[in-house]
Amino acid sequence: MKSIPRLRLAHLPTPFHRLDHLSEELGRSIWIKRDDMTGAATTGNKIRKLEFTLAQAREEGADVLITCGGIQSNHCRATAILGRQLGFKVHLLLRGEKPSEADGNLFLDKLAGAEISYFSPRYYQAHLDFIAEETCDAYRKKGKKPYFITTGASDEVGVWGYVEAATELLADIERNRLKPDAVVLATGSGGTQAGLTAGMSRSGSQVPVIGMAVCDDAFWFENKIRQDLVAWNDRYQQGLEVSGLDIRVNDNYIGPGYARAGAPIFKTIEKLLQTEAILLDPVYTGKAFYGMLEEAEAGELVGQGDLVFVHTGGAFGLMAQRLESLQHINGKSGER
Ligand SMILES: *Cc1c(COP(=O)(O)O)cnc(C)c1O
Repeated sequence: MKSIPRLRLAHLPTPFHRLDHLSEELGRSIWIKRDDMTGAATTGNKIRKLEFTLAQAREEGADVLITCGGIQSNHCRATAILGRQLGFKVHLLLRGEKPSEADGNLFLDKLAGAEISYFSPRYYQAHLDFIAEETCDAYRKKGKKPYFITTGASDEVGVWGYVEAATELLADIERNRLKPDAVVLATGSGGTQAGLTAGMSRSGSQVPVIGMAVCDDAFWFENKIRQDLVAWNDRYQQGLEVSGLDIRVNDNYIGPGYARAGAPIFKTIEKLLQTEAILLDPVYTGKAFYGMLEEAEAGELVGQGDLVFVHTGGAFGLMAQRLESLQHINGKSGER
């Protein structure tokens, strides 16, 4: 088979280290894979997927990238910046009304020169496929060649990013002679978990990969992840037995809803910054990290072995929720 198109965009390998203060406190070692350090403007997990997705777009001769997500989508921000760097025009389809001020990721989308269309959540939810097709058609009519990237770049192409990352993570684990009870991460569109699960499994790893859902329920994600892996396996002839994979999603920590967090999450963010100098976010990593600690305390993460957290980024999402964050920290929300 001819080699898989890939661009080198992320700073790899990302650091891997123990959280000393927290491990001391818990009496159990917690390690962290710093995929928040894949880049500064491009921080987070999406760039690993986009190395493959954008290479594919280039291979197909595209000149316009169209993608979609929430107003504070990290994926849209990464696509806006990397797309521009690579010479594509970028058009974002965002779920939500146009805010009066552009904050966090949205501010960077604008700074990167992306064109942005806003849709009410209800319309977006019901008609995303149609909106995407219509936008692509409009560019085709102008003689352009659009390439549509699905939510979070979680499809059979983007999944490669974390199939490859699994090799890197397993090397980190081996080098430090760890025997982790689990690898834990935030799951939002499933591609990161799909890639890690497939990549670790085919390297013979028995370590469970646990995705902490931040929006949809476990059943939805298990299906989505399996579907993406079946498509990946078929397209690239990887010989992976997808039906035999152990896909584990925990949906107990979604909290008030997607992108909405309560006091415990902001407290967790505050604590990690103060004890480990690590920035989590209220949409993904704060919830997943909090969930991991809760599960560990409840004895749900077997044994007293090491835990590995994959930090998937999201810092700009925290900036967009600084007021909520301060309210919770100052105890003015009544939810303390
Ligand atoms: C997108 C995202 C995730 C979830 O990754 P998926 O592959 O979409 O499941 C987790 N953390 C952050 C910060 C993200 O931006």
